[in-house]
This record gives sequence, structure tokens and C-alpha cells, in this order.
Amino acid sequence: MVRTQSWAVGLVAHPVGTEVSRLEWRLACRRHQETFVQLLRSVGIEDEADMELIRRRFLVWWSLEAPATYFEIVSTRRCGGCVAEERHLDLARGVAKLIELAKELL
Ligand SMILES: [Zn+2]
Repeated sequence: MVRTQSWAVGLVAHPVGTEVSRLEWRLACRRHQETFVQLLRSVGIEDEADMELIRRRFLVWWSLEAPATYFEIVSTRRCGGCVAEERHLDLARGVAKLIELAKELL
């Protein structure tokens, strides 16, 4: 019997074109996941597929905005929100960007 290598499942990229039915969190802690969802709901985003799109666009923006910090978060597999807080990064800029991304979908 061939066993599925379940450890590898998380490493496989999702196929292009697959409908996203829920948010695909990788590194965010529960507190920052809830903060993200509450923020988007407060500006009128209810659909999880929209939230997932915003999440992805936000990460692209962050990787361009602060590449060193972004690389550290990905390579150490820590929650980006927690690292941003520890570093006293300007969270207001991130919040403003999330709202901007949300409004593009409204
Ligand atoms: Zn966190």
C-alpha cells in the first residue's frame, strides 16, 4: 500500500484556476487572522474569496514595500503581523493599504 505523504501536501501550490472557498492562511496567528477579517468586514468585504484575493495582493505589496522584512517572515515562518508589531513598523500604512485593496473590489 502506498501511503500519501501528507507532510508534502502543504508544499504543493494550488492549481491555477481553482476556486478559492476559504482563506489560505499560512503564517498568520489567530489574532492577526481575526484582525484581518474584522478590518475587511468593517469596510464591507464579506466574501471569503474577496478576502483571499486581498490577502494575496497585500502580500505582494508588502514584499515590494519591505522586502527584507517580508523575506525574514517567510524564511522564519513567523506571523507577519506579530513581526510588524515587534519591529514597531507603521501598521497604519498596512491598514490603509488593506482598505485601498478592499475598495477596489467594492
Ligand atoms: Zn500575529
